[in-house]
Amino acid sequence: MVEVAFPCNSTSTTTECEMDPASEVEARRVFSASGRQVVGWFHSHPTFEATPSVRDIHNQHAYQSLCRRAADGIEPFVGVIVSPPGGTGPYGVSDISVFYVTPPGPDDDHMGAEALPFSLPFTVTGQHAIAADLLDAMAHLIESHADLIQRADLAKRFKRNEAMTSLEKLLVSMRYRWAEDIRQQWDEHVALRLRPLLLLHFCRGSASETGNSTPIATSRNATSTVSNE
Ligand SMILES: [Zn+2]
Repeated sequence: MVEVAFPCNSTSTTTECEMDPASEVEARRVFSASGRQVVGWFHSHPTFEATPSVRDIHNQHAYQSLCRRAADGIEPFVGVIVSPPGGTGPYGVSDISVFYVTPPGPDDDHMGAEALPFSLPFTVTGQHAIAADLLDAMAHLIESHADLIQRADLAKRFKRNEAMTSLEKLLVSMRYRWAEDIRQQWDEHVALRLRPLLLLHFCRGSASETGNSTPIATSRNATSTVSNE
């Protein structure tokens, strides 16, 4: 069961993703301080589908190996990929996939064999109540990345030929993750707290374009999406 996600910094290029080691250490410290243990990692594919790359499979295999339990050989560690382009769900909603790899067997050619990825089914729970500290964590996440030079400009359209900006798309995608009876409450949090921060720090383009065209709409991000059982 994934209860919480820690937003590690990455040392990503446009096509590959690596966790920043210092950030990973910090995540482990935070988790163990709350009596939790690390059970997976997540990253996004900003421009392509939520299937693991060769590098992702390699990394997942390495992480799983580190988590192998001596007693039963089980490796309780999953990989989660969020794909903002989406395409398999409702309009604007990012795709999420969870994967695991089977390591090469003892009979495989040691040098040539590859770990095989497969997709894990998952169920999202906890979408009926907004955790008290979630908004604080999200606000902190936005503010702590406000000076990042390579941050996305959410005022831009999320795809060519789309009227929707990346900001609107983000809010639509997050909102979808909440149960319907929670969405109005979520909208209020977004309007009061998250949207102003995103406009301030992540919308460098025409402020007038983003300032008045977006209905209040939202939901949550990859972090909380994965609060699964
Ligand atoms: Zn990847």
